[in-house]
Amino acid sequence: MFNFIKDFLSDRSFQVKIHNYLSPSFSQQNGVPQGSTISVTLFLIAINDICENIKFPVQSTLFADDLNILCRGKNPNSIQPALQDTIDSLLEWSSKTGFTFSATKSRCSLFTRFRKYNNLEVHLNNTPIPYTKTIKILGITFDNKNTWQAHLKEIRKATLIKLNIIKLLAHTTWRANGTTLKQIYKSLILSKLEYGAFLYIDAKQSALKMIETIHNSGLRLATGAFRSSPISSILNIANTLPLDLRRMQNFALQEARRIQNNITSNLENSIKLNNFEFNCSGIFKHEHATTPPWLMELHFNTDLSQHIKSETMDYTFRNLTLSLLEDYQDYTKFYTDGSKTEIGVGASVYFNNTSKMIKFPDFCSIYTAEAYAIYHALETIQQLNIDKAIILSDSLSTINSICNINQPNAISSMIQNRIALLNHNNQDVMLLWIPSHTGIHGNETADTYAKRAITSPEASLVQICSLGDIKGAIQSLTLQQWQHRWTSSHTKLNEIKPSINPWPTHTSKRRHEVIINRLRIGHTWLTHSFLMRHDDPAQCTTCGEALTIKHVLLHCRNFTDTRTSLNIPEHLYEALGPDYENSINILTFLKITKLYNLI
Ligand SMILES: [Zn+2]
Repeated sequence: MFNFIKDFLSDRSFQVKIHNYLSPSFSQQNGVPQGSTISVTLFLIAINDICENIKFPVQSTLFADDLNILCRGKNPNSIQPALQDTIDSLLEWSSKTGFTFSATKSRCSLFTRFRKYNNLEVHLNNTPIPYTKTIKILGITFDNKNTWQAHLKEIRKATLIKLNIIKLLAHTTWRANGTTLKQIYKSLILSKLEYGAFLYIDAKQSALKMIETIHNSGLRLATGAFRSSPISSILNIANTLPLDLRRMQNFALQEARRIQNNITSNLENSIKLNNFEFNCSGIFKHEHATTPPWLMELHFNTDLSQHIKSETMDYTFRNLTLSLLEDYQDYTKFYTDGSKTEIGVGASVYFNNTSKMIKFPDFCSIYTAEAYAIYHALETIQQLNIDKAIILSDSLSTINSICNINQPNAISSMIQNRIALLNHNNQDVMLLWIPSHTGIHGNETADTYAKRAITSPEASLVQICSLGDIKGAIQSLTLQQWQHRWTSSHTKLNEIKPSINPWPTHTSKRRHEVIINRLRIGHTWLTHSFLMRHDDPAQCTTCGEALTIKHVLLHCRNFTDTRTSLNIPEHLYEALGPDYENSINILTFLKITKLYNLI
């Protein structure tokens, strides 16, 4: 291997070919050959010790060849010598290793709230490093006052151009429907609006507004909503969270991931989401496997799952279980079960006529409960020093994920480590899947206790959860907040659609989809184009009433006959609701009344 890499890196030459012309050969003095898979790794190995030249109080971040050195202090004059020393020792390192720094490509900046300060003057090989007020690191523009104005302006500029793509595709002749357009919007634009967004979560509202309008315009184009439509209605129809709520949600998810991986400065291990707070101290942390996968011994049996439950009689299952258990007569039997209802989550472990009840935070999944029950059984086996034990669980997904040796999730790796420890102590543990609700006594008992655990004062409360549980809880909290906002807004769509839950789209025709969306939102060319003309609000010439969608569809005297013949419901929430038949009737109504092209 060593010789291969040595040969790969030495005596390299390269030529450039354009059409039939081949350039002279150049020899490569240092660096790695471009484009090979191993080059990246070799480069990282070569540059890795660069950080050893950076001494306190100077700190550094390194991503591939992108090195940043930073120093914090009350007075720029005290920072300057520290930075200069570091640069000098980096130069010395570069002369030994063959790396070169470019003074013209480097930048320096001072992040401060002071209005008056002397610019930093640091040199690279006697060439001053240019001073700038903004610095771009990995696609994020940092400005020296931390206002994020520069960065937000830049994303606005980049995404505004991309909105044109949506505009083009949204044209009715292309037949791109709302779902496709939304997908394109999310991958082309929203991804840019959300990249690194956790950094500027506290930026001023006025600055954030710059990118919020892009989000709203993108979704307006995707839904085909009329220009004057209220933003809250557009977001509801598009079934997409407002940008600030998405930012909060992503921030909270990221924080949860950091807590799980122990890389947070958040000492309380809790996530705050507006008025809510999650305690994440009990989140399953990723444990390293104590035993390599090829040495891990897991004894399990899921054979009974091959019998289809609906086609197998309960007593057949009972007999099959009993015959399986004949091989384990001298094993202590642990029955485990989990339960999740509307009021809570519980689990139980039942063995030797004793039962242990466990209660979990309400947002835990049934999977967490089932898996933790198995974990608790293993703890008991260890404490009581039981030589041979068999754990009977009716959760196939839990057993399957515990047996995933190569890529276990956090709780499965905890369980695997526990089993490895027991094996090491010559304690034998077997996992057996049994079907639920088939009258197997131990399983029925475990089931009863798991349900009882949810309300029983005897149950012990454990503050544990998985990353997945936290994710689910954060998502449902975000949706609750969105629903709360929606309920307190007063748009025309509120009358028809009180919930933020999506309505099915029945039609594949873009034109129909746009018309139905506009009618539901209540803003159409017919009723609101006066705004674009700076005119007075439109009125129905026959009835003398304000020209609204409600008036046209339900009350206008001009269309009474058509309305009756098509059975148009008398309430707007029915006429424009999710019912397919009604939508078709409304479209026919518009065609007969010649309003179809005015929407
Ligand atoms: Zn009328």
